[in-house]
Amino acid sequence: MTALNLINVTLQYPDGDGVMTALDAVNLTVHPGQFVSLVGPSGSGKSSLLAVAATLVKPTSGLVMIDGVDATALSEKELASLRRDKVGIIFQQPNLLASLTASEQLIITDHLRGKSLKAAAVRAAELLDLVGLADCAGKRPHQLSGGQRQRVNIARALMADPKLLLVDEPTAALDHARSDSIVRLLRKVSDEFNVATIMVTHDTEFVPLTDLVATMRDGVLTAPVPALAGSF
Ligand code: ADP
Ligand code: MG
Repeated sequence: MTALNLINVTLQYPDGDGVMTALDAVNLTVHPGQFVSLVGPSGSGKSSLLAVAATLVKPTSGLVMIDGVDATALSEKELASLRRDKVGIIFQQPNLLASLTASEQLIITDHLRGKSLKAAAVRAAELLDLVGLADCAGKRPHQLSGGQRQRVNIARALMADPKLLLVDEPTAALDHARSDSIVRLLRKVSDEFNVATIMVTHDTEFVPLTDLVATMRDGVLTAPVPALAGSF
């Protein structure tokens, strides 16, 4: 089973009298446990690809298959539950709730999914430990560093045990050392959870920590190639 399969996906936005093609017949297959870097100039369509893969934006044409399910055939309600159960989304700004502790940020997402508070609390503690924040469970966002907030964000995205993790410029707001440890954490997560991860990054230095790299240019995606050290 592939975690993500984009088949001939085109996304167009209205643009004056015409249209702007953000994704141009994109094909991409990502298997469980694969970690893919997505690089390319600003405005080339990287965030659009993640939005379509996250089922937040419906493509103009083409198929979006998540864990074998054709998302383009689902109702809004079915999409919401597919997204909730199978997709973890991590954006540049963690968007944590200011009044909640690290642990509560995680517990609330699982509780909304119908899990008992107790089961959610156990899972939250395990995940905070995994991301190196066991000591920070009771801290609120303002008591955490930028890197720690991004770790909470990653732990939160893992609560549902997603099949697909979509990460948009996770290190854009962080210094080099913190960026490095965030990408290494995503590597560990892809391996240990067997989750398919796509990470948009402008920092080609981190590409060798991933398995494959695909390049976007003017909405056109090149086929992924091995992300070997020295190739970037
Ligand atoms: P990237 O993430 O690579 O910088 P984006 O996917 O954000 O690129 O944008 C690709 C193109 O689509 C850009 O030209 C952008 O202006 C356009 N675009 C993105 N979102 C929208 C939108 N909601 N409405 C209209 N155009 C958009
Ligand atoms: Mg972007």
